[in-house]
This record gives sequence, structure tokens and C-alpha cells, in this order.
Amino acid sequence: QTRAIHVGSVQVGGGAPVVVQSMTNTHTTDVAATVAQIDRLEKAGCKIVRLAVPDDKAAEAISPIRQAINLPLIADIHFDHRLAIKAAKNGADGLRINPGNIGGAKNTAKVVEAAAKYGLCLRIGVNAGSLEKDLLAKYDGPTADAMVESAINHIRAVEALGFTNFKISIKASDVLKTIEAYTRLSSATDFPLHVGVTEAGFGLCGTAKSAVGIGVLLFKGIGDTIRVSLSGDPVDEIRVAYQILRSLGLGARGPEIISCPTCGRTQIEVVKIAKEVEAALGHLESPITIAVMGCVVNGPGEAKEADIGIAGGKSHGILFKKGDRIAKVEHSRLVEALVSEVKKMSLS
Ligand code: SF4
Repeated sequence: QTRAIHVGSVQVGGGAPVVVQSMTNTHTTDVAATVAQIDRLEKAGCKIVRLAVPDDKAAEAISPIRQAINLPLIADIHFDHRLAIKAAKNGADGLRINPGNIGGAKNTAKVVEAAAKYGLCLRIGVNAGSLEKDLLAKYDGPTADAMVESAINHIRAVEALGFTNFKISIKASDVLKTIEAYTRLSSATDFPLHVGVTEAGFGLCGTAKSAVGIGVLLFKGIGDTIRVSLSGDPVDEIRVAYQILRSLGLGARGPEIISCPTCGRTQIEVVKIAKEVEAALGHLESPITIAVMGCVVNGPGEAKEADIGIAGGKSHGILFKKGDRIAKVEHSRLVEALVSEVKKMSLS
């Protein structure tokens, strides 16, 4: 149970569904590229977007970007509190600061004042890599306890300024430390938690680390908004985030393509076909589970939870719905038959 805050029009915490967010990796000053990437993120299901504000020109770019997009926009600021104030003036919906590197309590207070003045939310982002020296000495390094104590100190300091529209993150690139720190923090505060494994990596490794870290926390009921951090196209972060949510029964979006691992009974090119199905139907927003199975002997039965699927036979394959065969189709027409049947299912 956390209290509700708002990032623009999006509620975070207070019983709202887990909010999926991402971060652009364009140069913020390249307004056209940034807006185009935010549009792609929105289409993929992203609900809040963050962008880096490393300098004055980036802070100025917030204004035209904000006018051109629909999603709430969070400005990510390090080191220079004046950039946070400028981002607030220029229309950001939220500010993400790391009090460990923004220049002490005085500068944090100035950022809080700007957030209150312009009606923004804050994210207080504690990072294992930039903890206060006294805590590092006390705990002999950036332990989970050190991170939690740092977060609690910052929460108290911001609350003491009369500001409560904020959420917290407490990130480490180590999965176990992240889980431990968030678990302790969640029992110590009811402010909403932004959950993620920072610098998780790329591809399979990054996906697995994020899925385990975020997944374990969500399973424990911890996390109001999530960001999967992956090197590469941020749209992939959104896809992975929804797979994590879907796996935990916390929200599904778009098609989930399940496919069998293949074995000595396989009669079709499962991976190639699954990719073709994804290319044809990946844009759908409605949740649907689609199976691509290698054989007609076991495939439909193994995938009977799927809404619809195809399975390979010797010369023909079959189309099945909820495990029941509905048509026999030549191999070359399997994908086409599946796509046309899905389209009939009136999905958006
Ligand atoms: Fe093997 Fe058929 Fe199961 Fe695929 S569905 S793993 S081909 S038995």
C-alpha cells in the first residue's frame, strides 16, 4: 500500500496499476528525433517518459518537446540544480534528481521549491554509486542498508520542506542488492516506489536481470512504476516490461507469442514462423496469446491455454483455437491463415 502521487495525468501508487515507463536515448536537443522516439514509446504502451537534461540547451528543448507529445515528461537531472529549475519552467511534468549529486540540502531545497511552484512531481533517485560518504563509512560500502538509510534521510528532508508529491527509487546494478534494498525501503515508507535494476545490460542478460529483479519485487507487492533498463532501442524496454507484468498477472498488452522449444518431432521452422507472426501482429494493443508449435501431435494440447495457434504437420499444418483444431492449412499458408483469423477476432 502506497500513497498516490501524480505525474501529469498519470497516477502512480495508491492502488493504481503498475505504470510502465522508459527513457529516451536520443540527444534531447534533437527535438524531432526525441519526439519521434517518444511517439514510438507511446505506441508500444509506455505511460511516462524520461529524458536526460545534461545542459541548458537540453532544458530549453523541453518546451517544444512537451508541446509535441502526449506522455507525461520527466526531466532527468544530475549535478546542476539550475537545470532542474529550468526544466520545471519549460514544462516538464516531473523531475528526477539524485540528492547525492545535486549539491547538498540547499540545492535539493531549491529543486523542491521549483517543483512545488510549477506543480511537478519529483523522483528522489538514490543510487548505490553516489551514496553519501558518511553512510559509505558507516556501512563499509554501498550496502542495501546504506542505500535505505540514504533514501529515508532524503524523504525526511523533502517532507520537512512541506513537499510530498514524490516517489523514490533506490537502484543498484546488483540484482540481489536491489531486491534487498527495495524490500526494506517499502516497509519503511508509503511513498510510491519506482522500481528497476539500473545498468542491467543489453539483450538476453539485461532482460533476465531486469525480469528477476523487477519480477521478484512486483511479486512481493513492491513497485508502483517500473523501468526496464536495457542498452539499445527503448521500445524493447516497454516490451520486456509488459512481459514481466503479464507473467505476474499484473497487466497484459498486445500479443504474447508462445512457441515450443522444438524437438525431434518438429515439422515447421518454428523460430522463423514465430518471427513472421510477431512482425504481422506485434502492433496489436489488445492482449492475445498466440502459439506457434512444432508438431500437430502435441502442439495444440501443449498450447491449449493460447487463444489461437498453429502447429506443423508433415505436409500441412493446423490452425487451432483454445486447443481445438479449426482448419488444416498448407505450410506455406500457415502464417497468412493465422493472421487472417486473428484479424477476425476484432482486436485493436
Ligand atoms: Fe516437440 Fe511438438 Fe512439443 Fe514442439 S510441440 S516441443 S515439436 S512435441
